Amino acid sequence: DRLVGPEADSEESAVEAALRPKELGEFIGQPKVREQLDLVLKAARQRNGTADHVLLSGAPGLGKTTLSMIIAAEMAAPIRITSGPAIQHAGDLAAILSSLQEGEVLFLDEIHRMSRPAEEMLYMAMEDFRVDVIVGKGPGATAIPLELPPFTLVGATTRAGLLPPPLRDRFGFTAHMEFYEPHELEQVVHRSARLLDVEIDTDGAAEIAGRSRGTPRIANRLLRRVRDYAQVKADGSIDQDIASRALGVYEVDERGLDRLDRAVLTALLKLFGGGPVGLSTLSVAVGEERETVEEVAEPFLVREGLLARTPRGRIATPAAWDHLDMPRPTQNPP
Ligand code: ADP
Repeated sequence: DRLVGPEADSEESAVEAALRPKELGEFIGQPKVREQLDLVLKAARQRNGTADHVLLSGAPGLGKTTLSMIIAAEMAAPIRITSGPAIQHAGDLAAILSSLQEGEVLFLDEIHRMSRPAEEMLYMAMEDFRVDVIVGKGPGATAIPLELPPFTLVGATTRAGLLPPPLRDRFGFTAHMEFYEPHELEQVVHRSARLLDVEIDTDGAAEIAGRSRGTPRIANRLLRRVRDYAQVKADGSIDQDIASRALGVYEVDERGLDRLDRAVLTALLKLFGGGPVGLSTLSVAVGEERETVEEVAEPFLVREGLLARTPRGRIATPAAWDHLDMPRPTQNPP
């Protein structure tokens, strides 16, 4: 597992649960999403109704699960959590839908990975609070309509564009979650440190925030590793020096690049003069699978403006030379 990977690892869920903001007012950053969602929820409460279906799109670790739990808490409703890949048959979905209570929030993570028949059942459930349960097979099969109590579907996806338009259109409200600004991540770090009972100063929090790739999940994870270091190597409290030494041990640099990211960048600069070079050649040079380089390392390097994917191959940007402290090549060699 990568320290800077955006997905939660298996042992992380319990720790994460403890660090989750419980109400909208506690949720840091995403000011637009918070303001819009606040209106949606307040209006639903005033009408004594159920909130509209909500679609949350954004990268892993930005707070989609957290927000779904906040929606349920703000509506004083229970929540059921499941995911697209867990629902392969329409029957799986029918079982969940038919057991929902009135007003319940159904959180469907990775909603774009649901099977087609389940998706079609969901259309009707979202729109009319009704499903047709098919009983039997072949010519004798009959559809038995089943009324559902009104519920709020909160769907989460890494990209809203991955959803078929008919599904996308059935959400009353869509929120796009952006990567967090460093000052917002600093607040996340301060808040988590308080909950974990760790002492941290402003510069220490800024140091961790700057290496967290715009992602609260990563900020919380780095904080836990820095806490270990501070406890073992010092008196337990975190300042900039401790944070920077600790993350040095874990090979997460000032910009949040890890060993793999740096290896890709270093090969691109040192072996291929900054490119262009093909993905396969670059991967062999790094000693990694093509997929690893393309899917694990490159997205962040591209987002940071350090690497560009062009039709002729991968190229390093001037910022890449600066980041690795190497002199930029001259534009037109004599
Ligand atoms: P996602 O569902 O988008 O992958 P999660 O909701 O599971 O992300 O969030 C991952 C972790 O980051 C959680 O432990 C949560 O406490 C923390 N987190 C996410 N967003 C925020 C936020 N806005 N403020 C504080 N903590 C946050």
